[in-house]
Amino acid sequence: MAMGMRARESVNMSEDLTQAIAPYATALHDASLQSHCSSCFHRIPAQSPHDMSCTMCGSVRYCCSDCLISDCEVHSSSGECCFFVKHLREASPSTLTEETSDIRAALRLLYSLETRGLVSSDSVSSSNRIGGLSASGIREVLEEGGEIAEGVLEGSLLMLSARKSRMKNYVGLSNGLTIEKVALWAVMTNSVENEGCTSNKPESCVVPVSKGAAPDAVMEFN
Ligand SMILES: [Zn+2]
Ligand SMILES: [Zn+2]
Repeated sequence: MAMGMRARESVNMSEDLTQAIAPYATALHDASLQSHCSSCFHRIPAQSPHDMSCTMCGSVRYCCSDCLISDCEVHSSSGECCFFVKHLREASPSTLTEETSDIRAALRLLYSLETRGLVSSDSVSSSNRIGGLSASGIREVLEEGGEIAEGVLEGSLLMLSARKSRMKNYVGLSNGLTIEKVALWAVMTNSVENEGCTSNKPESCVVPVSKGAAPDAVMEFN
């Protein structure tokens, strides 16, 4: 389906017509974990007096106590902290060099959707969506196999193991998908909420999932 906009008044060249939309979840790229703040994404100045890091995993740094306080809930409750601890302890040296920001963004996404009450087994199994985010194409990719499918499977297992320690009740899906696979796929495809509005707050409709220090969400419409 094609989407378009028609101006009813004159607009200047390159004027921004749509408001910036806050993403459901963001995660700092691996390459920036030691140099940038995991909350505000700003570069941490060398020898900063306010610089602090997570005492559990030591893998994320913050530029100040405000940033630490605002991020510590999602960092620990999403399973990201646990992921770092387990991943660093159990992973083979080859997997350590692999990119983890998709997995961490997916953990943070799931946590964000859970706190909004948007994750349930029928919310995912009836349509290829999670919290309204499109996960179309995931079945085809998993059926086809190959490198991407392996990445989704391995990543979702790492997510599951990181989340197990903090999960109250596990949401299993009848069709063989797990919410971890679907969330990871939504992150990998930069999914955008594109149909209906599952939230009560109108301003939180159409929320892209972003990752990395400079997120550039790709809009996808079916
Ligand atoms: Zn900060
Ligand atoms: Zn931590």
